[in-house]
Amino acid sequence: MADRLDRYREKRDPGRTPEPFGGAHVRPDDPLAPRLFVVQKHAARRLHWDFRLELDGTLRSWAVPKGPSYDPADKRMAVEVEDHPIEYADFEGLIPAGNYGAGAVIVWDRGAWTPRSDPREGLARGKLVFELAGQKLRGEWTLVRTRRDQGGKQGWLLIKHRDAYAGPGREVPEESVLSGLLLEQLAAGEDRAARAAGEARRLGARARHVGWGRPMAATDAAGPPAGAGWLFEPRYDGYRVLARQGGGRAELRYAGGGDATPIFPEVARALEKLDDGALVDGELVVLDPDGRPSAAALRDRAALARRADVERASFERPATLFAFDLLALGGLDLRPLPLRDRKRLLAMVVPRLGALRYADHVEGRGEELLREVEARGLPGVVVKRADSPYAAGRSPDWRTIRAAGARRSEGSAPPPRVPSRAAEPPRVEVTNAEKVFFPGDGITKGDVVVYYREIAPFMLPWLKDRPIVLTRFPDGIEGKSFYQKDAPDWRPAWLRTVKLRNEDGRDLDHFLVDDEDGLAWIANLGVIPIHVHASRAGALDRPDWCVVDLDPKEAPFRDVVRLARALHELCEEVGLPSYPKTTGQQGLHVLVPLGGQLTNAQARTLGELLARAVEREHPQLATTTRAIGARGGRVYLDFMQNGAGKTIAAPYAVRPRPGAPVSTPLRWSEVDGRLDPARFTIRTVPARARRLRVDPLLPVLSLAPDLLAAVARLRGLLRTGAAPAAPRGR
Ligand code: MN
Repeated sequence: MADRLDRYREKRDPGRTPEPFGGAHVRPDDPLAPRLFVVQKHAARRLHWDFRLELDGTLRSWAVPKGPSYDPADKRMAVEVEDHPIEYADFEGLIPAGNYGAGAVIVWDRGAWTPRSDPREGLARGKLVFELAGQKLRGEWTLVRTRRDQGGKQGWLLIKHRDAYAGPGREVPEESVLSGLLLEQLAAGEDRAARAAGEARRLGARARHVGWGRPMAATDAAGPPAGAGWLFEPRYDGYRVLARQGGGRAELRYAGGGDATPIFPEVARALEKLDDGALVDGELVVLDPDGRPSAAALRDRAALARRADVERASFERPATLFAFDLLALGGLDLRPLPLRDRKRLLAMVVPRLGALRYADHVEGRGEELLREVEARGLPGVVVKRADSPYAAGRSPDWRTIRAAGARRSEGSAPPPRVPSRAAEPPRVEVTNAEKVFFPGDGITKGDVVVYYREIAPFMLPWLKDRPIVLTRFPDGIEGKSFYQKDAPDWRPAWLRTVKLRNEDGRDLDHFLVDDEDGLAWIANLGVIPIHVHASRAGALDRPDWCVVDLDPKEAPFRDVVRLARALHELCEEVGLPSYPKTTGQQGLHVLVPLGGQLTNAQARTLGELLARAVEREHPQLATTTRAIGARGGRVYLDFMQNGAGKTIAAPYAVRPRPGAPVSTPLRWSEVDGRLDPARFTIRTVPARARRLRVDPLLPVLSLAPDLLAAVARLRGLLRTGAAPAAPRGR
């Protein structure tokens, strides 16, 4: 039987689009059970809304040019399109130019759909009646097949039933329920974090890392305080949670320190979209259909442990994290700022709807809010001094006032059960942590493992899906070492591997590192450097970058800097983005993003053209000759690290040299006469990465430059010594 996802896969190239490529999932199959639905707003050639219903392991999909309407009189055309994988429900981003459906996509709505009768029969008959429980779309709807054929595609109509939710002129917010961004903002690359961080700096916030700490807590009060200068927020009586985004990864922690991330994936996904280095304080609740927090539903959610149960609950009974404070952003410590300013910054970065939501306040009208809160059956209000800083522990600056009739027993209790993962033994036990690995520096094996854990949020994007090659130093840098490509049989089951054929035709299991524990497990093997392939499993002949390695051997480092800058200028001239990093040895790597547009062989050709052009321009400083004797004190421009099976030292990899230097991503502004690669070590790089907050090398993984034009201009330049002018428009 043909796979229902075949058509989806035929239209897309995994090397060129960030869209997910999951297989079909099997889910429990009571025909009337609630299932996942998602609506994505998509600025493809024509703007449309993609309406997707989970059924039998895929997302059945319709393109709705005008979008769903709450007016039962609007019969909205819906064109049946190919099934999408379930993972697509979380996809929000830019599909690069040249790909199928190129353009911006936001998650416009998400929730549960419940068929009123057997959905397979309904689809076969051409009429499907169902209920939606999303953030925006609710109540009963029908999809009905039309006779008209939409250019070879089946047409349907999406119609709202007359019910309590229906009504002409009902306004629906347009922003994403995941990130809070409008489609236009996402398409324009809106950087909320940079704006908010700039504002925080203007307000006097200083750069400092803010760790997990004890949250600020309120004291009890009888009634609203007199006088001005107080902010009133509703109380939620859920679980107090601190939430951090770092390197694109989200982490949720209960006030007691337990890890809540795996229990509330819908909140974690929204948090991932938040801006780098954000640390948010808030209250986690599960709302009932009337929008009131339900203590029982929250307890039930927190008790779930099986992944399938958690995923199902994440759309059937989604949790909401009401964010009421912002402690850090972009490497800045916001805690000393007045609460009023912190909340203004919070409102700049946190969405107003969805699983992670800005908790609004009123100023000075506490009696009114308290009455409103009582009328809505909420537990009470929290009153906060508007000019107070954030301080750990109980403080008279925060006071809690209970609503009349609110039950005390439903207070903000700690979660009933520490979530399953925290109770399990750690997945990685470090052995021989005290063994000295860098004798001149007193750096131990344990220090190396700690470094890799610390740098994981920044390093993991470079490891994801990339086969790696390890170099093990069981006795430190002065002992014996050996390469290891093949993952040993005794590896833990949770570490992924991929088979790769090596030069002598043997299939070897290469490790794939997905998470911090994986990185720590590898480091515990006594691994110092980690080398990565330029391509990813599933698209091994589609490298993501082309690299030129500037290797000085006897040449002075200032020549490396001059040549790196020359290479940068050359790339600019021919229209190629380029990004530098230290190798962690004596040289520099310059990476050019390829966006999966070239084969390994073509990437090597590009590297060779770049290296030869620089060599030709600087024959006294540069050579492309490999033999050390023939280099004559010149810097070797090595393009041979491109090609099938070739690897480079991963960004953030430690090198086995005195001082424990690290291969470190740089900004071009740092590549000048003052650059000293020896400054970047396992002792300095984690703080630097947090301070920069965005990895300067990261665009390498997302850009897809016009390579045909660049190569043509490079060839022209090598023929004539001058780059031909860019072609003029017709
Ligand atoms: Mn679409």
